Amino acid sequence: MAMEDLTVRNVPPVETKYRRIVTPIPVPESIPTLESMLKNEALAMAGQPPILWDRAEGFQVYDRFGNKWIDWTSGVLVTNAGHCHPKVQKAIIDQASHGLLHAFTFPTELRAKFSEKLVSVAPEGLDKTYLFTTGSEAVEGALKFARTYAQNIGGADKNIVVSFTNSFHGRTLGSQLAGGIPELKTWIVNRDPDNVQIPFPDGFRCPDVSFDLFLDTLEAAGVAPNRVAAVITESYQGGNASFAPADYMQKVRGWCDQYQASLIFDEVQAGFGRAGTYWAHEHYGVKPDLITCGKGIACGLPLSAVVGRPEIMDVYPPASMTATHTGNPICLAAAHANLLAIEEDGLVENSRRLGEILHTELGRLKDKFSDRVGALHGKGLVAALHIVQSGGIEPDPQLTNKIVRHCIEKGLMLFAPVGYHESSVKVCPPLMIEEEALRESIDVFEEAMTEAISLQ
Ligand code: PMP
Repeated sequence: MAMEDLTVRNVPPVETKYRRIVTPIPVPESIPTLESMLKNEALAMAGQPPILWDRAEGFQVYDRFGNKWIDWTSGVLVTNAGHCHPKVQKAIIDQASHGLLHAFTFPTELRAKFSEKLVSVAPEGLDKTYLFTTGSEAVEGALKFARTYAQNIGGADKNIVVSFTNSFHGRTLGSQLAGGIPELKTWIVNRDPDNVQIPFPDGFRCPDVSFDLFLDTLEAAGVAPNRVAAVITESYQGGNASFAPADYMQKVRGWCDQYQASLIFDEVQAGFGRAGTYWAHEHYGVKPDLITCGKGIACGLPLSAVVGRPEIMDVYPPASMTATHTGNPICLAAAHANLLAIEEDGLVENSRRLGEILHTELGRLKDKFSDRVGALHGKGLVAALHIVQSGGIEPDPQLTNKIVRHCIEKGLMLFAPVGYHESSVKVCPPLMIEEEALRESIDVFEEAMTEAISLQ
């Protein structure tokens, strides 16, 4: 059910406390607007289900045709504190009325206050930050900091970045090179031989979760360990919500220490409570040298950051790594209010507590549909069901797409399938979702799966 498919379907009406569907889907009146986007925008901007978002509040999304959905997307894991959190909204309005929309890298009180706050919530020892705009930019920045630091301590050849297959770090050139999604790799024109990838030990697509595979892969690629500048990994792999075993990551930490390579956890998607802990890498019991942040940092406005050890963060002299929108005042006002809201609303605890319900219930569905759900991954309020073809573990993008369509037609908002061969259904509601709404949405999901499978 991608935006390009504008086939209108009559669907049964839905009316509950949390959901309302009162039109065919896609809504016929919305089609000229959807067509206008297809006409005027690059095809790559399409791809999401053909629903015109008009307004979103808390854990609900509305169109202007009377329909209302429970949100299982948080945009794209951005509105952790809830869509249009009142305090974030107020901070944006207040800052706009106050009258400073841009300040380049000139000092502002807002920037001082926010950087101090961000460093205070970061792991101990990661005491300096650099502010960017997008997640990809933060990844690029982290890789530059780490490579430059490595070359300072180990010479020009200490330049290799080790990352993992099936990982996603963004779509700019450097971040995409570090990423490991095969389709994206083939679209890169100038491959960098100093990017080396290790199979990600998710225990499903890569059943070998031993650290030996890390060592053997590097050896087979002819990589001398002391040439490695950095190891970068998503704290959990976003597309499939997959974690590595904790002892594996502890060994990666030890290896990085031994060879003076920076360990970078990409927390762009995973940070700010998503996985039931403030930072998802806390599940591994290791401390990174650098983290990248984005998405949930500002609850909807474009802000990102690298936070890291001062000796790495200070490799560049003043004004040698600028970004036009560093510390945009509106984004900073939103982000500061957002970090306070995450604390005041107890959202990390909510993610942990409701995450237990989510994973228990999805585990029940995995057992019920065991022939079509190859794996259930995730923690806290992030989960992915890996949909497979009957009787095996081959991905099934068609069925995944059908499940998403049925959910949307029933008032449960999901984004288009993601992950391994676009066959994962990703579940990531705002962290402030209420238990009753969460339980209702899981029931809807069960109905949608039942229908999608039976109509195969
Ligand atoms: N890293 C991770 C782990 C992500 O999930 C994403 C976005 N999905 C990015 C980086 C890139 O962020 P952005 O789209 O803001 O550039």
